[in-house]
Amino acid sequence: MEFELYEGQVYRPPSEAGSLIVQVTSGCSYNRCIYCSMYKDRKFHLRPFEEVLLALRFFRSRYQSVPRIFLADGDVLALSYGKLLRILRSIRDLFPECERISAYGSSRNLRSYTAAQLQELHLLGLSLIYMGVESGSDAVLEYVRKGQTRELLIESADKLTEAGILISASVICGLGGSAMASEHAEATAEVLNRIDPRYLGILRLTIDPGTVMEQLTASGEFLLQSEYGILEEMYQLISGLELSECIVRSNHVCNLVAVSGTIGYGHEGKAALLQQLDAARQVYR
Ligand code: SF4
Repeated sequence: MEFELYEGQVYRPPSEAGSLIVQVTSGCSYNRCIYCSMYKDRKFHLRPFEEVLLALRFFRSRYQSVPRIFLADGDVLALSYGKLLRILRSIRDLFPECERISAYGSSRNLRSYTAAQLQELHLLGLSLIYMGVESGSDAVLEYVRKGQTRELLIESADKLTEAGILISASVICGLGGSAMASEHAEATAEVLNRIDPRYLGILRLTIDPGTVMEQLTASGEFLLQSEYGILEEMYQLISGLELSECIVRSNHVCNLVAVSGTIGYGHEGKAALLQQLDAARQVYR
């Protein structure tokens, strides 16, 4: 049987740079967010189980030790519970040394999973889900056609937490433009406080060519946030965070300034993060 190990461009979070990437779906099951240009080159589909198994056996024959596996692509939880269970069982059998299996997971697709099912997946090694929160404001989420609400985000995150699966959340500064900046920052902090993720990636909106967001920006309907405004948003967002223990990073290539720290009880990360941002604000003022 002939097959490709990877179809199209494969995306992964920066923190999965050292992980073995196993592509179990191809593309994004939603593909409608107006700012996103990923996965436009293909139609979403599940990779046949036989192909996934062949890929796993191939990787096993090549690598002696695989401590971490990232399941790609855009939304692995578009797989049914039964299919994901089968894949995780195969990983457990072939890679007993694997300590962490992670994947992107949207609140939309988490709707079809129960906490009990997620707990079963967790027992088979699924320990971290990257969740694109992007905003806690329903108005912003609707504007960018994210296909999720703050209520759904909280409900999905609760199920993951109940199942023992850690959450790595991402949010996008500038997503509400200059018009909804303050509402976006305040509501996003509120939702993050409720979700209480273990990791948080703060990104900055970039305008990708060929997206609806590009058209809206060019026509003047969407008013891009200024660089100083982005830093103000980040400052407001981080000021509002009250998290148990969360590693916060804004070190993606899209960010204006790279800041990182741990927010939570016993950590002084929040003050240090705000200090770093304050210094950056002076530069961009
Ligand atoms: S942002 Fe994520 S959910 Fe939205 S279209 Fe892009 S890959 Fe899909």
